[in-house]
Amino acid sequence: MLRKIKRAALGLLRSAGAFERVANSKWRRERLLILCYHGISLDDEHEWRPPLYMQADLLERRLETLRAMRCSVLPLGEALTRLRHRDLPPRSVAITFDDGAYDFYKQAYPLVKKHGVPVTVYQSTYYTDHEMPIFNLTCSYLLWKRRGEQLDSTLDLGLSEPMDLRTEMGRHRVVRGLVELSERENLTGLQKNELGRRLAVILGIDYSAFVATRILQLMNAREVAEVGKNGVDVQLHSHRHRTPEDEVLFRREISENRERIRALTGTEARHFCYPSGVHRPEFLGWLEKEHVVSATTCDAGLVDRDNNPFLLPRFVDTSGRSQIEFESWLSGVGCMVAVRKAAPQRYIVPED
Ligand SMILES: [Zn+2]
Repeated sequence: MLRKIKRAALGLLRSAGAFERVANSKWRRERLLILCYHGISLDDEHEWRPPLYMQADLLERRLETLRAMRCSVLPLGEALTRLRHRDLPPRSVAITFDDGAYDFYKQAYPLVKKHGVPVTVYQSTYYTDHEMPIFNLTCSYLLWKRRGEQLDSTLDLGLSEPMDLRTEMGRHRVVRGLVELSERENLTGLQKNELGRRLAVILGIDYSAFVATRILQLMNAREVAEVGKNGVDVQLHSHRHRTPEDEVLFRREISENRERIRALTGTEARHFCYPSGVHRPEFLGWLEKEHVVSATTCDAGLVDRDNNPFLLPRFVDTSGRSQIEFESWLSGVGCMVAVRKAAPQRYIVPED
């Protein structure tokens, strides 16, 4: 209901010319919009997790809208420098993709090339070296594939209760049980992959066929190197997609991540994105010690010169965002009328 009212209100503002006026205002000119994308579906991932995935044709419509609204799409680093120097072009936008998944390579990268827009990929690197699907997400996805079912076979997986896959909560309980088991037994990546395979067998899913689709896998070393060589700006997202609350471990996540990116692309990554948008006050100083120059969150907003460079807001674009909502954010109106701006401080994608 609220959503409908909001869309109607935005429609009125647009027809009254407010989008155009704000888009061309001095206020908007002094601000940068950073767009955030997660996955671009290889198959049906947008039905499984609408807040994280969208289909490739929707991404293409977004890129067409950027052009139609005459947005200036800039590389992230350049945009931040020009913001500091009060030198932004009209309707500035920077485009970022989180995680560096294979679906970026397969679905987004060709569109980005076709439309000639610069993009930043915040690349986690652990799974870049270990070509297998991300464990906890795989469990969740495979269980979702069997939604509606109830299964008794729990002993094989060390679970304490039958698997009730009829609700999101029931499936979440199974995922949590498997993740806890993997932590308790301190399983390696390979062992977790085996556990995923055992789960698939119980669910009657061909695990090898699933792995071959590359759904829920990151780009491998060759793919990261290729996109880096062809102009994609590869930046920091922590090595294992986590932000430990211990300084030494946190900084190791940054330095390992940077080392891997350097080895693959030959570039020195200095821009960071908080995995799952989780940020704490102590992280800011630790990032500075690691010579990081900017960090983006999942909080909603436009970036202005007063923003702390380690707390840069973005607009998280998903399947759930309507065309008019997207346009409102490009113009600046969306930010002005946004009610809730802070992203929840929890892991929406549980860490590996
Ligand atoms: Zn991420």
